[in-house]
Amino acid sequence: MEFCPTCGSMLGYEKPNVGHPSRLYCPTCLYVCNIESMFKIKRKQALVRKAIEPVICQDDMMNGPKIEVPCPRCGHDQATFTQVQIRSADEPATIFYLCLNDKCKHLWRED
Ligand SMILES: [Zn+2]
Ligand SMILES: [Zn+2]
Repeated sequence: MEFCPTCGSMLGYEKPNVGHPSRLYCPTCLYVCNIESMFKIKRKQALVRKAIEPVICQDDMMNGPKIEVPCPRCGHDQATFTQVQIRSADEPATIFYLCLNDKCKHLWRED
């Protein structure tokens, strides 16, 4: 159920018609909202959210704190780590490890 952002009345639903797609309209103040464009906006927001992937700079990590943890790829036992807040602030940070073997430099994460 949607309400008019202008006057607060409950919006009515108008079926798709010649010349315009389905839309919501306000019986009080003649506000109309194109449903398709609403969905498009929502889809766009979802895409933006997905784009918030952590950008890990390997050079930065080389200077980070070292830890003894075996690399899952080469078995080297020294790595550096960094904590990245991927999701909202109230969730625990994700730890990323970077293998310190020069020939490997494998980057992996631990949730
Ligand atoms: Zn209205
Ligand atoms: Zn490695």
